[in-house]
Amino acid sequence: MKHTQDINFVSIVIPVYNEEASLPELLSRTIKAADSLDKDYEIVLVDDGSRDNSADLIEAASLEKNSHVVGIILNRNYGQHNAIMAGFQHVRGDLIITLDADLQNPPEEIPNLVTKAEEGYDSVGTVRINRQDSALRRYPSKLINKLVKRSTGIEMNDYGCMLRAYRRHVVDAMLDCHERSTFIPILANGFARHTVEIDVEHNERSEGESKYDFMHLISLMFDLLTSMTTAPLRLLSIVGAGIATLGTLFGLFLFVMRLIQGAEWGGNGVFPLFAILFVFVGAQFVGLGLLGEYIGRIYSDVRARPRYFVQDVLIGEATKSARSSNESKV
Ligand code: UDP
Ligand code: MG
Repeated sequence: MKHTQDINFVSIVIPVYNEEASLPELLSRTIKAADSLDKDYEIVLVDDGSRDNSADLIEAASLEKNSHVVGIILNRNYGQHNAIMAGFQHVRGDLIITLDADLQNPPEEIPNLVTKAEEGYDSVGTVRINRQDSALRRYPSKLINKLVKRSTGIEMNDYGCMLRAYRRHVVDAMLDCHERSTFIPILANGFARHTVEIDVEHNERSEGESKYDFMHLISLMFDLLTSMTTAPLRLLSIVGAGIATLGTLFGLFLFVMRLIQGAEWGGNGVFPLFAILFVFVGAQFVGLGLLGEYIGRIYSDVRARPRYFVQDVLIGEATKSARSSNESKV
């Protein structure tokens, strides 16, 4: 069952961090693309604590006559995904589009996203054709895509591209998630029933530098991993059980060989010590894994994500009239 609700209002959310060089072009191109939609729209620019002139430029854009710009100014830098969340909190649209400020994703693709979403999709992802990033960026993200596919079973090829569209109910559900570190495209997939990906152009960063250095990329990768699974914690128990089993087998093997070959075999008791050590190391890992199981559960409780997400309630005709007469009684 696909969503057939009309899309009348489109919100475009753009996180901005030290992007004064690309903002003017970004705005003019985004406005042009949105004007061609024939729908109401707003452009929500979230300034993520920029230290250049970005906030002033956003303010000026919002003060213009007939401006579609909504400016949200954060007091300091909170990171791209938190900035987008702040934008989500203020959107009014039926369809919400996220976009990077650096013009790596051309705003001209926005109408394509809207058209695709109108076919009834809850979330529209994008695949970058001719991706223009360094190999250092490309390989980690390939690895991420594979990991996500394996551990969530959600079939998407490209999570790195933020040019995406989400229907209102998906964004509302994301706002209901209370974790502090998050990765929006993956979080959204948890609440979307019908997802699709389209191809989009991808350009080199025209102005400034990527805001993600190597350490940030690693931290993002961990955000991404921990936001979808606690399986690595379970890995501890599995590894521990493996080591302990091998230790036990080794011990048995030594014992048997000792009986057959005499005390010399096994280095006069040194090897058996190793066997005992392995068993204990394994047991420690199992203990850690057990702690991990609790921590994993605590983490998922602390995040307080919605337990489930109801997309639609379908009420039959007869029940509907009974319900409404009941309601009028109270
Ligand atoms: N960004 C942000 N806060 C940050 C880092 C980045 O709002 O702490 C914004 C940035 O202005 C841009 C988008 O997030 O609009 C993506 O950043 P960037 O282009 O540097 O990342 P990359 O394309 O290298 O993944
Ligand atoms: Mg970029």
